[in-house]
Amino acid sequence: MIDTHCHLDLPEFDEDRDEVLKRARNAGFEAFMIPGIEPDTMGKIINMAENEANVYFASGVHPNNAAELPPDWLDQVRKNAEHPRCKAIGEIGMDYYREYCPHDIQRDVFMQQLDLAAELDLPVIIHCRSAYEDLWPMLSHWLKGGHGRTGVLHAFDETPEAALKAVDLGMKIGMGGPYTYRKKNERRLEIVDAVPLESILLETDCPYLSPIPHRGERNEPAYAALTLAKIAELKGVSFEEADLQTTRNARDFFRME
Ligand SMILES: [Zn+2]
Repeated sequence: MIDTHCHLDLPEFDEDRDEVLKRARNAGFEAFMIPGIEPDTMGKIINMAENEANVYFASGVHPNNAAELPPDWLDQVRKNAEHPRCKAIGEIGMDYYREYCPHDIQRDVFMQQLDLAAELDLPVIIHCRSAYEDLWPMLSHWLKGGHGRTGVLHAFDETPEAALKAVDLGMKIGMGGPYTYRKKNERRLEIVDAVPLESILLETDCPYLSPIPHRGERNEPAYAALTLAKIAELKGVSFEEADLQTTRNARDFFRME
């Protein structure tokens, strides 16, 4: 398995980061993708990627951190993206749920990073909350604008129809802990049903969004096995088959060697 979205750099893991990675490796995780969220924490992320086997990262500014950026922020994202362990631009997108940044700035920062991803030939990791109506026209236009452009809609929480439109344009759908929730979860079950296994990326978004039975606790990569078990069950395939396919999806998508 590969955890395609884990914030292992956050302070929630400062006490026991090595143990967390060890538990994940013992549970069968062979690689980890840490998305960037702001310029200030990239050094810590890059340090982890340089010192831990099979830890990769993405370079980018999260929409919640887009309000007060230094003038050279895009140069910083570009410089970090040229690191050999950097496999994507992310996480980028729009978030109208938490009003941390004016919408026009979010759109501008998002667009500039999409253009950078195209220029550097990297996939994008998309964060979107309560902003899909604004984000999708920009993203779909970008996807159609050049050969090989692709991305993942991380922690996907829209509709099956929206998922299929994205898949039609070659995107991946990121699925994490909420896909194991039992209550009021019909829509997510329909999404798993609709999206081909070849288009699913497994993720935790740790330390957030723990799967059942850890809901409410700190999340960690090892728990993504619970999410994968749920996806396999809903898809009617064995755990091994779901593991093989989603691991292949992640390796191909991020071009992990
Ligand atoms: Zn995230």
